[in-house]
Amino acid sequence: MLANIKYLLSSVWYAATYILAPPFCSYCKEFMKVRAVLCDECKLMIRPVVSAKLAITRTYDIKVFALGAYEEPLQSLIRAKHHGDRIASRDLAKLFCSTGMLDAVPCDYWVPIPLHWTRFASRGFNQATEMAAIFSQESGKPVAELLKRNKRTKFQALLSPQARLSNVKEAFSLHKQNMEQYRDKHLILVDDLMTTGSTLQEAVRALRMVQPASITAVVFCRVV
Ligand SMILES: [Zn+2]
Repeated sequence: MLANIKYLLSSVWYAATYILAPPFCSYCKEFMKVRAVLCDECKLMIRPVVSAKLAITRTYDIKVFALGAYEEPLQSLIRAKHHGDRIASRDLAKLFCSTGMLDAVPCDYWVPIPLHWTRFASRGFNQATEMAAIFSQESGKPVAELLKRNKRTKFQALLSPQARLSNVKEAFSLHKQNMEQYRDKHLILVDDLMTTGSTLQEAVRALRMVQPASITAVVFCRVV
């Protein structure tokens, strides 16, 4: 109940700040005639990256699609943690959809990577959930909150590659209800950033338990 009220309040807040938000570019702060997350010049600065293969086991890998490289102007947008930045997350997801990059990816459900509740509480929103909500809106396919975080992991960016692996090991499990409905379905994992890919790998390992037809991942940025 309390969670519902909190969600409702944050949605009202989101709608109000959306309407009131002045049309400034989120990166260079240039005034724009039409509201968008980035001005045309900054949009051109996004370095496109090709889809990557991420190995899960020796015989199983998934494709990872990214809007761009983890560089400016995306980098500051991804790092943003203030409440108003929820708008930027959603606008960035709209920009991602407008590229058409995801049109050919088979999809039945969008599956956001969850934040641990303590991190969610301090941040107030999860970028992956915001992205998934927009992808769902644009594609007409539902969001499935299938994953749950088992532990509060350290920030991956601060760790060595070896430490990253053990940090996220068994970090996720599945919400057990209605697992049958995801069998033989196409699942798309959603996260904001891929560094070494170890978080995605752990999430895929958990998701494979439902025996989906395919798993693909979509992130705003990828470290290249
Ligand atoms: Zn700009």
